[in-house]
Amino acid sequence: MIKKNKVAIVGAGQVGATTAYTLAVKGLVSELVIIDINTDKAKGEALDINHGMPFLNPAKIYAGTYQDTKDAEVVIITAGLPRRPGQSRRDLIHSNNRIVQDIVKQLNTHADDPVIIVATNPVDLMALTAQRTSKQPKEKVFGSGTLLDTARFRFTLAQNCHIEARSIQADIIGEHGEGEIPVWSLANISGVPMATYCSICNRICESQKREQIFLEVRDAGMEVIKKKGATYYAIALTLTRLAEAVLKDEHSVLTVSMHINGYLGIYDVSMGLPAVIGSGGIQKTIELPLNQQEREDFIATSAVLKELARDMEEFTP
Ligand code: NAD
Repeated sequence: MIKKNKVAIVGAGQVGATTAYTLAVKGLVSELVIIDINTDKAKGEALDINHGMPFLNPAKIYAGTYQDTKDAEVVIITAGLPRRPGQSRRDLIHSNNRIVQDIVKQLNTHADDPVIIVATNPVDLMALTAQRTSKQPKEKVFGSGTLLDTARFRFTLAQNCHIEARSIQADIIGEHGEGEIPVWSLANISGVPMATYCSICNRICESQKREQIFLEVRDAGMEVIKKKGATYYAIALTLTRLAEAVLKDEHSVLTVSMHINGYLGIYDVSMGLPAVIGSGGIQKTIELPLNQQEREDFIATSAVLKELARDMEEFTP
């Protein structure tokens, strides 16, 4: 049987449309359906990409309905309100919770066996909603989590250390947003621990540099929103990378928001941790050997997310 590489994107806004474009440009899909409550927006985005088809790998790209998700291998959820300048991702909880619930219920009815990737913010809580609502097993439902933050972390370190970003191994874990944690203890350049590399490097960094880098990474999304109104290129590349790992059964280690069941004594929250991603979604969780401070920070973030999840369940209209 020929593999279809079919992806559905729900939400044809800035993030969804840019993800559709990125998937098409990278030639990763043979079929791509775009779904939005604003059907004209979905049709317009599909048409705009189709007009570039002579320059792309052939693919069937169209605006559709949930019935078209039946044989999708991957469904990416990008529907929902985005942040405005000054807003926290957590401010979007109630409006977006209802939207994600409704979408996943539709997928339960129409989609046979998809891997569901959530981008809608606050992404860790929306991933939890999707995991709780979906008929799919938890390993098939995850959020983009801190993968975008991890990319921003590697980019910022790359700039700082004058090293190409792909040569840097460094993760952000925890919550995408306020409760994110840089794993400095395991960060390395080609296997050389960051602290050792600093002594090899001729450039002198002031002692507060790490904190400055972290804050820049944590607040990067709002910086972009303040300047251009929204973020969509880097998140589209992030979602495309995740879809690629699933479609090609890559066994790539990527940091996603996964359902946590026992790690550090934490249960029933969704948080960013590295996982082996391939066909069927999360194939294995990587339990990072964090230092004491990182463990404490991760547990503290989980407690905040649990509280927000309780509030979300109680108060979503
Ligand atoms: P946008 O306003 O441009 O697009 C949202 C789209 O969702 C609109 O086209 C709207 O019609 C559609 N929509 C709303 N309710 C729907 C429903 N029930 N079913 C189908 N479609 C529906 O917003 P955007 O900039 O594309 O952002 C989308 C989401 O992605 C936001 O929540 C934003 O915060 C989030 N985001 C996440 C990350 C991340 O790292 N996880 C990064 C950037 C943005």
